[in-house]
Amino acid sequence: MTFDNLGLSADLLATVAREGYTEPTPVQSAAIPPILAGRDVLAAAQTGTGKTAAFVLPTLERLRGHANAGFSPARHPVRVLILTPTRELAVQVSDAVKTYSRGTSLRSAVVYGGTRIDPEIKLLWRGVEILVATPGRLLDHIGQKTVNLSQVEVLVLDEGDRMLDMGFIPDVRKIVALMPTQHQTLLFSATFSDDIRRLAKEFQRDPEIIEVAARNSIADNLTQVLYPVDQDRKADLLIHLIKRDAMEQVLVFTRSKAGASRLASYLDRRGVSTSAIHGDRSQSERTRALEAFRGRFVKVLVATDVASRGLDIADLPYVVNFELPYEPQDYIHRIGRTGRAGASGTAISLVSPDEVEELRAVQRLLRKSIPCAVVEEFLPNPDAEPTQSRRPAGRSAAPSSSGWGHQRESAPSGRPRRSLAATSR
Ligand code: AMP
Repeated sequence: MTFDNLGLSADLLATVAREGYTEPTPVQSAAIPPILAGRDVLAAAQTGTGKTAAFVLPTLERLRGHANAGFSPARHPVRVLILTPTRELAVQVSDAVKTYSRGTSLRSAVVYGGTRIDPEIKLLWRGVEILVATPGRLLDHIGQKTVNLSQVEVLVLDEGDRMLDMGFIPDVRKIVALMPTQHQTLLFSATFSDDIRRLAKEFQRDPEIIEVAARNSIADNLTQVLYPVDQDRKADLLIHLIKRDAMEQVLVFTRSKAGASRLASYLDRRGVSTSAIHGDRSQSERTRALEAFRGRFVKVLVATDVASRGLDIADLPYVVNFELPYEPQDYIHRIGRTGRAGASGTAISLVSPDEVEELRAVQRLLRKSIPCAVVEEFLPNPDAEPTQSRRPAGRSAAPSSSGWGHQRESAPSGRPRRSLAATSR
């Protein structure tokens, strides 16, 4: 399959070639033709599958007729609205829009909370055809009458599953009510759940359904491995693994913002350069942390689930779950940051005895066990009682009928995988 027979015009094909894309990814092959034909599309595709280009390229194609060099803002109404759940994803999608629309006279802008609104207002007054936004900030603009959605032709809901999780759907409803009834809606989601299907029913008309990877599947080129370890020794095990495997770029997930900060400063103190990205940090701090990581000025980036959404870092070789997430779906989101676009990647989970329930939930979702590796000196103390689950109040913790021992039986090998463990023994 090449890009040539998808229906894109010569200048967009040149853009794609300039980016070095030789062939479309599966989601691009499946989504571009129906989007060009004006159909609604419901696509299950994780970040890393090329989904951004899958909706941006055909929408740019559809906007070609509207491209004009006029100065008047009235000649540049918002025609494509892309809603994302997080600021980071908004910035990333906006960067992709700018890259793919270079050389056209189409204008784009991105608006998101946590930053000053005035510079955004100035941009919007000039007029933009493509607007990328987080829902809350967009509603602020609508309230201030700095944006008008009455000419929107295409609505993209990116990472719909996360929009649901973060409670943005009421905001999305308010936004959609301000758009013309006739518009195309493209809904992208890392996973298909019943809630997503309901969302599609509400916002879409007879969508073309695209599922490029099997439900909740993981890229083939991704190696998953777990290390049993007590919670209070995880940081030292992480340092050990980073040194042992000469890891250069490692994205580490923690459950809490405080945990992310704590771990980042511990690693830094122990000589492993680290920055952190989480909801308590200002937008500029997050951007700086991300840039430092992307530019390889720091080895490790510690992130929480929400802050990490949509992070696109090319060729990220390692993702580490410092703690397993409470929601098993988040495991899939997290490890989707590695093994992207065909590159190989390793997802490492440091699992303490009190995370047995979370591990079971993840393995149930994956429908397979995660291979277990062992670093002898970091094995959990078998006599210690599992500590109390650290679930926040209100979350339904399944009663833990077994401790760590049971899990070790259920792990597939129960024995170190040579490549990962042999050197550490
Ligand atoms: P996304 O899933 O949209 O976050 O894209 C993941 C990465 O894949 C981005 O860095 C894109 O630049 C890259 N990408 C998108 N389409 C292609 C393609 N057809 N061939 C190679 N890389 C691509």
